Amino acid sequence: MRTGRLLAWYRKGARDLPWRRTRDPYSIWVSEVMLQQTQIATVIPYYRRWLKRFPTVRALARAPMDDVLKAWEGLGYYARARNLHKAARLLKKLPRTAEEWRAVTGVGAYTAAAIASIAHGERVAVFDGNVRRVLSRFEARDVTEAPPPRGKPGDWNQALMELGQRVCTPRAPRCGECPIRSDCKARASGEPERWPLKKAKKEVPHKEVAVGVIWKGGRFYVQRRAEEGLLGGLWEFPGGKREKGETFEQCLRREIREETGFRVDAGPFLVTVRHRYSHFSVELHTYHCFWRRGKAADPSSARASEGKRWVTPDEAGALAMPTANRRILDALRAAGRPPAPAF
Ligand code: SF4
Repeated sequence: MRTGRLLAWYRKGARDLPWRRTRDPYSIWVSEVMLQQTQIATVIPYYRRWLKRFPTVRALARAPMDDVLKAWEGLGYYARARNLHKAARLLKKLPRTAEEWRAVTGVGAYTAAAIASIAHGERVAVFDGNVRRVLSRFEARDVTEAPPPRGKPGDWNQALMELGQRVCTPRAPRCGECPIRSDCKARASGEPERWPLKKAKKEVPHKEVAVGVIWKGGRFYVQRRAEEGLLGGLWEFPGGKREKGETFEQCLRREIREETGFRVDAGPFLVTVRHRYSHFSVELHTYHCFWRRGKAADPSSARASEGKRWVTPDEAGALAMPTANRRILDALRAAGRPPAPAF
């Protein structure tokens, strides 16, 4: 490939993204982790706020987990924030090489290569879907990763990514604007979209979940998810997956009893929130709940404790919540508390 053309195109026309104005490894690390599963336009304001709030790896290490999750709220894939925080606390100094970066919690081969090449100029390739597509089309065959040419490996890697994002797009690549078009075999074939060769798509499982808003006075109950696993450390309304043959009301009674010990019945319906994760999609069918009279765990015995809170809508707004639960909270704020006497 004529590397000069690609680099010249990149230097002239690259988007002015905030993390491209720095060679600071910590800032690049943060940007790469945020960009792992999130679009550039979404990441920009989060990146700016994060670096204001935690300008150095030390500042991040000193911050409480709740502040870290709050700064990440809405970006999704919260293990990324927990891993950044954990790594910041463990690292005595930031790594330099891609191999050293790979040993850091939450940093895979792609992120390690991006940080090492951009911040330290190491000749190591990044190889994501964009880069694979560009190189496979250029060669008109499926390619595996290869080290960048000598020179500026960070710029080279970013130029390939940028080309894949803006020009050599999955559908309708803009070959007429492409700096490497004269040597591109896929373009010459007249069918640039044929590469990379497609893999069969897997079906995404779907979960139906019942969620309860349990009231006690003007407050409702939220609980914290375990640190490990999906959405770990975030606050949510209680509930769980509907089993075969159950109504949502039956599911809610069972799940809330199992999770909290509370004896409640499902009251008025509040909202259904749909959300898609990478490996499954979910529908959260949310109901206001009321206490069953005369049962052991009545409201007065349901005290707050570690990982369990009774909060007002405003207090809930200050907690870090998964996006789907945040949307339940929005619906709750709009609807208000349902009328007595049920509660
Ligand atoms: S010429 Fe077209 S297919 Fe080839 S790399 Fe450029 S945009 Fe992609």
